[in-house]
Amino acid sequence: MWGLLVFLAVAVGLYIFLKWRFGAEHVNGHVPEVRNIPERYTDPVCGLSVEANKGYGTMYKGREYRFCSLRCLADFDADPERYVHSTGA
Ligand SMILES: [Zn+2]
Repeated sequence: MWGLLVFLAVAVGLYIFLKWRFGAEHVNGHVPEVRNIPERYTDPVCGLSVEANKGYGTMYKGREYRFCSLRCLADFDADPERYVHSTGA
């Protein structure tokens, strides 16, 4: 009986620990990824590649997207989910 309770407590603790750790890793692992990104972005609206220091950028859900023109940026702003989902990622 007590063995089962201890097992449950350990299992719940482990679950919370793993969940917390996975979340922390996800955030921490994202930072070097951002530093290593190439100097080019893909315009999610028209698919053209855009250099990091050119075009127009916007942040959406913590990620930077760049666009070849204001037209593409406006299209993205109008319905970001459409383009975010179409690129997969
Ligand atoms: Zn474009």
